[in-house]
Amino acid sequence: MTNKSLDKILDGQRAAFNTNLNPAWDERKNKLLKLSKIIADNEQKFKDAISEDFGNRSFVETTMAELSIVQAGIKHALKHTQKWMRTRKAPTAIQFKPAKNIIVPQPRGVVGIISPWNYPLQLAVMPMVGALGAGNRVMLKPSEYTPRFSELLKSVLGEVFSDDEIYVATGGVDVAQAFSALPFDHLLFTGSTNVGRIVASAAAKNLTPVTLELGGKSPVIIDESANMKLTIPRIANGKLINAGQTCVAPDYLLMPQGKIDGFTDALIKQAERFYPTFAGNPDYTSIIADAHYARLQGLLEDAQTKGASIRVAGNDDSQQMAKERRIPLTVVTNTTPDMKIMQEEIFGPLLPIVASETLADSMHYIQERDRPLALYWFGEDKAKRDYVLNNTISGGVSINETAWHVVQEDIPFGGVGPSGMGSYHGEHGFKTFSHMKGVFLQSKFSGGKMLYPPYTEKTQKVLGMMRKFM
Ligand code: NAD
Repeated sequence: MTNKSLDKILDGQRAAFNTNLNPAWDERKNKLLKLSKIIADNEQKFKDAISEDFGNRSFVETTMAELSIVQAGIKHALKHTQKWMRTRKAPTAIQFKPAKNIIVPQPRGVVGIISPWNYPLQLAVMPMVGALGAGNRVMLKPSEYTPRFSELLKSVLGEVFSDDEIYVATGGVDVAQAFSALPFDHLLFTGSTNVGRIVASAAAKNLTPVTLELGGKSPVIIDESANMKLTIPRIANGKLINAGQTCVAPDYLLMPQGKIDGFTDALIKQAERFYPTFAGNPDYTSIIADAHYARLQGLLEDAQTKGASIRVAGNDDSQQMAKERRIPLTVVTNTTPDMKIMQEEIFGPLLPIVASETLADSMHYIQERDRPLALYWFGEDKAKRDYVLNNTISGGVSINETAWHVVQEDIPFGGVGPSGMGSYHGEHGFKTFSHMKGVFLQSKFSGGKMLYPPYTEKTQKVLGMMRKFM
């Protein structure tokens, strides 16, 4: 399906918004219910389209990490948004009493969403849930790497929603560039840090506020107090779901040199238990495209050339694996900071291990680098856990787990610095897509008139008294 003129769609959405600036809860609820029904009615079509786009995407992973997360997000929004929409009372400082303060949440207007390919449904629809709940109109640009999914989403949303409610613009980078230059009332971008910079500067020209959900290198620290029976499968699962093509996948591990070999053995064995074969296995997801496959192979070659050792899980035929664009868990040891695998986000099933003798060394390693999107710590020693929490800054954290903090609707999801700006999910999403308007309600009995000019000695005295209360 071809796109209509994006300027005209935006004008149409804004005109429609201006006729109904503060949609009632029933209207928002109906949109959320319709969205939920569209997704439920087309589950199998979404699973098929996403799998075809990937080459193979496990249906279970699509159900778990996309369909069910989105439905849970909608359910949560249906349960709570009416409460979030209410005007809130805010305290008033004593010198202004008996005046009152209130905060009035208002929709921003037209929200633009740009989404990536790795969880195409989740990352297009979850921001939409926040935006619709907050009363906005939505324009979406999904990724060109999932064309079947993107066309399907455009078609099923277009059957139910009018262009001035939700509009999906499909196409390549040229469309994405034109899209990010539109003067939206808010723009949420999910994707790489490099493209995030470009999108932020396009939005800056319009002073469009942006939420940037970016990537980065998310470290894992395993304390000696960790229960390894739980830790190994949790790390292997977090790394191998979607074949490591997850923004919050563990990117690298920090551990003492003496523990690396034993840990590598256990992790490889675990991966082989999860996936008795990688080739032809419907549970194991393919790498999205040839260019991404070549980039991952390039990271391995560069690391090997610079002295890294490599352990590969399974015993699959490498030609078959290449044909299916599948890469097994590959643990990379003897790493050094000059290797590309230690410099760029991996976004695939390669897992480098960095030798780090003490917790202080690990903190130093993390602090010296870009602030990560996620950080993982495994252990039972609460003092060390708190030391790690207090000495690192990351978008989010899971303790004794990987990735699951992302699906907690009551905590914010977002990055910090190069891993992102702003957050969403649950009430945090509602606030991101709302303008929280502060309103001061003056009283008949205001003392303000005592400060009117001409300024006299009496004015100075009153001001002095007031300042005592400030
Ligand atoms: P990407 O940055 O290449 O593309 C994301 C979107 O940006 C796509 O829709 C694309 O069409 C659009 N785009 C590309 N070039 C553009 C340009 N010049 N101007 C405007 N838009 C442009 O990212 P990707 O490869 O699709 O996704 C992988 C990256 O996304 C990883 O870095 C990953 O960590 C990150 N990610 C982050 C989150 C998160 O929630 N923080 C979630 C998933 C993925």
